[in-house]
Amino acid sequence: MHCLYLLRKTVNCAVQNVMWYFFGIVTGVDMTPHSAPVEPFDLVIFGGTGDLAMRKLLPALLHRFNDGQMPPGSRVIAVARDHGFSSAQYRERVQQALSGKGDHAGLADFLPLLDFHALDVTSAEGWQSFAQEVLRVGERVRVFYLATSPDIFVPICEGLHSHGLAAGQSRVVIEKPIGRDLASAARINDAVGRFFSEQQTYRIDHYLGKETVQNLTALRFGNALFEPLWNAAHIDHVQITVAETVGVESRGPYYDKSGALRDMVQNHLLQLLCLVAMEPPAAFSADAIRDEKLKVLRALKPIDASNAAQLTVRGQYRAGAANGQSAPGYVEELGQPSDTETFVAIKAEVANWRWAGVPFYLRTGKRMPERLSEIVVTFRSVPHSIFEPSAGPLQSNKLVLRLQPDEGVKFWLMNKVPGPGGMRLRHVAMDMSFAETFNVRHVDAYERLLGDVVRGNPMLFMRRDEVEAGWRWADQILAAWANSHEAPNPYTAGSWGPSAAVALIERDGRTWNDDAG
Ligand code: NAP
Repeated sequence: MHCLYLLRKTVNCAVQNVMWYFFGIVTGVDMTPHSAPVEPFDLVIFGGTGDLAMRKLLPALLHRFNDGQMPPGSRVIAVARDHGFSSAQYRERVQQALSGKGDHAGLADFLPLLDFHALDVTSAEGWQSFAQEVLRVGERVRVFYLATSPDIFVPICEGLHSHGLAAGQSRVVIEKPIGRDLASAARINDAVGRFFSEQQTYRIDHYLGKETVQNLTALRFGNALFEPLWNAAHIDHVQITVAETVGVESRGPYYDKSGALRDMVQNHLLQLLCLVAMEPPAAFSADAIRDEKLKVLRALKPIDASNAAQLTVRGQYRAGAANGQSAPGYVEELGQPSDTETFVAIKAEVANWRWAGVPFYLRTGKRMPERLSEIVVTFRSVPHSIFEPSAGPLQSNKLVLRLQPDEGVKFWLMNKVPGPGGMRLRHVAMDMSFAETFNVRHVDAYERLLGDVVRGNPMLFMRRDEVEAGWRWADQILAAWANSHEAPNPYTAGSWGPSAAVALIERDGRTWNDDAG
């Protein structure tokens, strides 16, 4: 134990020293986050009483307010149907929702910025007075966040347009899911596109706002170290896992029409895959990066009826245990029979010169043993070992980017166990979690993304062609599954999915990462 502790301590110290060089960080560099000032703006949340608004958007806005990023005169207008409550009552509701959560400093000063406006967006009535309220202050950045079901995106956009609210510096934010297949995504994009230009449209995938995801771009393109190795000659495979411990709970009716492929893979996992696999963009600009991501999506090898059985696994959880308690199966939670998958594993491939032959194993599911999102890039083994067998086995270098629960980056290396006793080797993780090292406050993805919309920076948002390219690939898998008429493989709640998912990777001589090194 003591030896292991010393080893870790020695390695961490050494590694931290090395890291100062690797990352060009020298003592004295100011690590405090810098944000340029913004002008007063309006943020209208359609769906201001909903789950997303209460759990994510308003807490994120509170942080922006505390960071001085909501200058005096900025307004947040929450819109929902008539609940008979006033702005004061809405603020009370927000206060209750937010004060039950971690950090709510500054809440009393933030609340006066909030107003509630009752409006049924599907009705012609009420839009006039809403527009008057919004236009009461002169031209400014106006963000319309559609935190509602996609069914009412069109009436909202139509209403905004016909009341003069889509012009000038207005922008619209739309949430996933953007459709349930290519055709429906195109319909939503067409409908929104009739009233808002592509430059005004921000399609959110909050995974892109995560610190670690951005750090991936910094690691790849800010260092000479990784990029020469970032290809099929040096990388053995990539794993992307997004695991949730929760079941479907009250989201059953929505989820049952969707399933894990539509809900998680088509958006979050594919976006992460793109950032790992894309070519260096010519510049750190929104379109340069999105152009490169699009090329990756277009290079994904098709998975269709000819190969879906070999390259994909669908699963659905049965009763088991989660978080130390017994948990019902999906069908019991839903209250009706269903063939919707709550788990999917895919062996994908990016068919281009850089990646040909490198598997990208994607895995996501509900009722997994831990809540975990990570990207694992495993490098190839050294070609020949010079060490005696007594030194222990050589393991591959791995770059592990963890998105949740704790954002961080670890690089696994072989090291000598210090001290006498000959050459003994151990696989040790060097921790590259800079937020922790420099004691920088963790910024939530929504916080960063809301700030980017206000600033008009679309880099971390999905362009229409990306969304549609993702669907084009996912649709073939969905069609193959539908034609096979096979039920998803059962797995016990609290496990890592069906045994077929283990077999998917193990028949290639690899295993899913367990971070034990
Ligand atoms: P939700 O809790 O059902 O909230 C929907 C909101 O829309 C409510 O405020 C509702 O208010 C309002 N609304 C419904 N019909 C309306 C109408 N005719 N006029 C005006 N307002 C209306 O849904 P949510 O979970 O917040 O999700 C919102 C969107 O974000 C969905 O597209 C969802 O897929 C997406 N999303 C949610 C999450 C999340 O964590 N919740 C995560 C990712 C994406 P009233 O019913 O009171 O009018």
